[in-house]
Amino acid sequence: MGSKYGVIVCPKCGMARGVETAKKTTSCQCGKEINLSHVKIKNHTDSPIELAELVAKANAIIRGGEEPAPEKRSRKKDPMNAIAEGAKSIKDPLERMRVVAQGLTELKSKFTVEDLRHVASLLGKDTAEDMLARLKEHNLVYEIDVGEYRSV
Ligand SMILES: [Zn+2]
Repeated sequence: MGSKYGVIVCPKCGMARGVETAKKTTSCQCGKEINLSHVKIKNHTDSPIELAELVAKANAIIRGGEEPAPEKRSRKKDPMNAIAEGAKSIKDPLERMRVVAQGLTELKSKFTVEDLRHVASLLGKDTAEDMLARLKEHNLVYEIDVGEYRSV
């Protein structure tokens, strides 16, 4: 290795911080004196600028539980979203489900419970299973093959 810097996670407060690997100890902002031989040093680098980025990234992960998304995927291009948007304003649940099933059928010529689940998650109202059960009950969809449906 031989890199000058690295990232450690403070055993007391759980936050990441940059350290000089040549040092024996470092003190965290929480006041904890950390013996570097007792912690794992990750993300070795020779660049202090890169080190600062690595620390910021590590802390973002620690705080947020995941890496910050570089950019949010636009949902505008998602045709499933268009179906969900179209169905959202419909008050009657059965009519709403019918519109979703019809939209999916027009989009893909047939659909699966996974497709329904996708739209259901965007709609946030009914579960895919509920939708499918009610649609079948009212003969608004038929099963063209195992697990594949079309609206009537
Ligand atoms: Zn600390």
